[in-house]
Amino acid sequence: MRILQTHDRTYHLHIHRHRGRKRIQFKRRRRTHFEVGAPFFMSDAAILDFARRHLAALDALPILPPLRLKPFEEGCVWLFGHRYPLKTAIGTSPRVWLKDDTVHVQSKEDDIEAYAAALERFCKQLLGREAQAIAEVLQERHPALPAEVKIFPRRMETRFGSCTPSRRRVRVNLALIHYPRTCLEYVVAHEMSHLLHPDHSRAFYDTLAKLCPDFRAREKDLKRRHAAFTRASDKTAPL
Ligand SMILES: [Zn+2]
Repeated sequence: MRILQTHDRTYHLHIHRHRGRKRIQFKRRRRTHFEVGAPFFMSDAAILDFARRHLAALDALPILPPLRLKPFEEGCVWLFGHRYPLKTAIGTSPRVWLKDDTVHVQSKEDDIEAYAAALERFCKQLLGREAQAIAEVLQERHPALPAEVKIFPRRMETRFGSCTPSRRRVRVNLALIHYPRTCLEYVVAHEMSHLLHPDHSRAFYDTLAKLCPDFRAREKDLKRRHAAFTRASDKTAPL
């Protein structure tokens, strides 16, 4: 994290660099906390300088909803269809681990957003690993699929997945971490099929049916679970 000090405020910038990114982008998480997506070769000094020149625009950005706080409000997290109680602790570094059927979240400060950020990183890694393993199985099953596809879990508002065929990249919705693996398998199979057929043509569905014969039932199941999960703001079990 980089700090930008002005005469009356301290801005916190969490910088993420991406190879494909051409422009700098700011997302406001808290009043003075920003996530910065920056081009790969942009230096910290250049980013701070850019922020300093655009302070009025930064202050005008809407504050995005906090990271996934819901698990902490409910005291549990759903990983691949199983419900795990959550335990938080203060420690020297942010860390998440699974032990005795409990998810332990450690953070440097006793702050719900810091815990949530650590848990989100853990979920991203876990989902990325699983999705990558599924992609490898699919490639073996269907050799026409391109090799070395890279999968990235992302927070997404409206879709379960998307892909960039020219770069062999697939993005999967981070929410998939909550549902059984069969849901993730369906989404990875759907996006991998798009690597061969960008549209929803007959050929696309032929490929998808080869990769995942019961894709229609799985899609329906996923939509039902996701609707129930995003609706469940009370303490009832989301699944
Ligand atoms: Zn599609």
